[in-house]
Amino acid sequence: KLNAEDCRQMLLYIADKILANEPYLTEVDSAIGDGDHGIGMATGMKNVKEVLLDMEGEKNVYSIFEEAGKAMLLSMGGASGVIFGSLYLEGALGTESKDYLTAEDLKAMEEKSLKAIQERGKASVGDKTMVDALAPAVEAMQQHYTEGLEKMLEEAEAGALRGVENTKDCIARFGRAKSLGERALGFQDAGATSTWLIFQSMREFVK
Ligand code: ADP
Ligand code: MG
Ligand code: MG
Repeated sequence: KLNAEDCRQMLLYIADKILANEPYLTEVDSAIGDGDHGIGMATGMKNVKEVLLDMEGEKNVYSIFEEAGKAMLLSMGGASGVIFGSLYLEGALGTESKDYLTAEDLKAMEEKSLKAIQERGKASVGDKTMVDALAPAVEAMQQHYTEGLEKMLEEAEAGALRGVENTKDCIARFGRAKSLGERALGFQDAGATSTWLIFQSMREFVK
């Protein structure tokens, strides 16, 4: 179980991981995109840190995710701001306030986020987007949430990483890589890479 302080620390941990990987994400997005994904994610995560550092003492776990999601949405702008903001925000919307998060709660949040991201962005698995990493992560969570947070997140990270690898075999249907057609083959998607890093961070944090 994660209480609100654990969630706050976990999202701070994710933010630091993304910030440390800014050059890597820039490199990945430069190969087939416009090279700004690292900068965009870093901007969002810096804002997340600022907001979360002011939330010490918060008791509701969902408020942590909600405020972090809003921080990304408002600071990143563009398609990826909405998408990655939704990853935190959408799972938390419409929930009753709660002072701890179980594996099942986290699974439910990620399910809702995936659904919202797909409704908004229209991407399916195989379109070479972050959905390629998020969907298998959610599937793994659905299969393993009864085995506890640690095991569930281990499997979720593995699913996300498989998803990143799969994006190398796909032609893009969204974003700048779309115009490259088959020339994008062999290159992984930047947003899928960020998604994997987020699940990797959660897995590292809970163990
Ligand atoms: P931009 O494409 O505006 O430069 P970023 O580089 O920050 O923005 O983010 C690009 C990432 O956003 C892509 O690698 C992809 O994973 C994700 N993405 C783009 N469009 C969609 C979409 N419709 N649905 C889901 N994810 C998307
Ligand atoms: Mg880009
Ligand atoms: Mg751009």
